[in-house]
Amino acid sequence: MDKMELLRRLPKIDDVMRQESLVMLAEEKGDLIVTDAVREVIAAKRAEILELIDETADLYDLQSLELSSVADAAELRVAENEKMKLFPLINATGTILHTNLGRAPLCRDAIENVAKVSTSYSSLEYNVKQGKRGSRHDLVNDLIKELTGAEDAMVVNNNAAATMIVLAALGRGKEVIVSRGELVEIGGSFRIPDIMMQSGAYLTEVGTSNKTKASDYEAAIITKEEAEDIDWEELDRGMSRFETGAIMKVHKSNYDIVGFTEEASLEELVSIGKKHDIPVIYDMGNGLMMDMSEYGIREPNVPASLAAGVDVMLFSGDKLLGGPQAGIIVGKKEYIKAMKQHPLARAMRVDKMTFAALEATLKKYKDPSLALRDIPILRMISESKDVMRARAEKLSDSIRIANADMVCEIVEVEDQIGGGAAPMVRLPGVAVSVQDGGKSADTTERKLRKAEIPVIARINEDRLLLCVRTVNDDEIEMICEALK
Ligand SMILES: *Cc1c(COP(=O)(O)O)cnc(C)c1O
Repeated sequence: MDKMELLRRLPKIDDVMRQESLVMLAEEKGDLIVTDAVREVIAAKRAEILELIDETADLYDLQSLELSSVADAAELRVAENEKMKLFPLINATGTILHTNLGRAPLCRDAIENVAKVSTSYSSLEYNVKQGKRGSRHDLVNDLIKELTGAEDAMVVNNNAAATMIVLAALGRGKEVIVSRGELVEIGGSFRIPDIMMQSGAYLTEVGTSNKTKASDYEAAIITKEEAEDIDWEELDRGMSRFETGAIMKVHKSNYDIVGFTEEASLEELVSIGKKHDIPVIYDMGNGLMMDMSEYGIREPNVPASLAAGVDVMLFSGDKLLGGPQAGIIVGKKEYIKAMKQHPLARAMRVDKMTFAALEATLKKYKDPSLALRDIPILRMISESKDVMRARAEKLSDSIRIANADMVCEIVEVEDQIGGGAAPMVRLPGVAVSVQDGGKSADTTERKLRKAEIPVIARINEDRLLLCVRTVNDDEIEMICEALK
């Protein structure tokens, strides 16, 4: 059959749309969605036919041009087009707060609360008791105050936003003192000196990369009186002399400085701040809400740092706190008030879904044992070797039963916190090393990634590792499926 004849046999869109299966599909998904899919299928067939040469045209599968075949293809197309760009996957890397994989998974109560609050109207800015307008700032304040001991709190989009608004509210047109060892880059474009510039505060660097003493901060303080006789010549040479607005300590979230080192403690900074009546800001980043040194996490935690007397502290909601993306600012009432009234507050405010997830997550911390049990990342951090070993055995058995060619071995690995938190911590973990016949680890890794529910594995020394700390029991079947 020649190409012209094949092209003539391409069905018309309207005829395909009258197929029983598509009539029903169009009712469910909408006419336009289905028509588009049919058009795409027919266009693809036309392009395919135009590519043919005479010999291959003779062999063309005429069956595939029939109405029912085109309708079936369109149905698959609709399903294909429906796939989301953002979808769940399985993290078998053993890195708990994987930034590329969405940081902290939420606890069940948080998810249920998000669904509940966002499917109907909600009390986001309405005080039901008094029957009048309320403030979204009041939704989690009492809870945060109770859990951290802070005077007041505010929630913004993320900790980067928190840094920005804190500096803009307290440091604009003033100098903010930061140690040279703490001029952090968190990732991408978030660098302390750049944020400082954007906020309108002037950065005063003190100390050196490895050593900054409390006296370095104190020596850099410029009082209002001193600032008033600005030496304009010095200013021209880039040696600014503005009034000191704040002292800021930044937690070394994603790096460590070892060797010949020294840094000022929070307590020392607080006492300098008190003496000169200058607020002390602490960007602590990770949001750890309780002591977890028992599990190898020797990081500052929120209540302990606040107890040292810092005036304003900020941290992420989706790092070690284990909640939704958010930036939480806690501290003295007067400073928090300045931030709530700042013009940037509106630009950084969070949605009801975030509040719903955050409130449900925070409630778990009323009882630390509940937090450890129910907040996924805390459970992963504190998971016992026995539980991980049992899960690895179950995974290994299931893989071997489902795939006769695969050789599994249970091995010890080192897991990480990730997400720019606790960079030096290595948690002793367990993994299943999978060898698929003669295939390379890279080949198997690619196959896992391309599965219907992708599995992200770790490769170490040419071995494919499925680290079970970050995998939960219901995902074992899906991993076996992905390996098929
Ligand atoms: C992670 C982090 C930030 C940025 O927080 P995001 O929630 O990622 O915006 C800022 N400062 C420190 C110290 C951090 O650890």
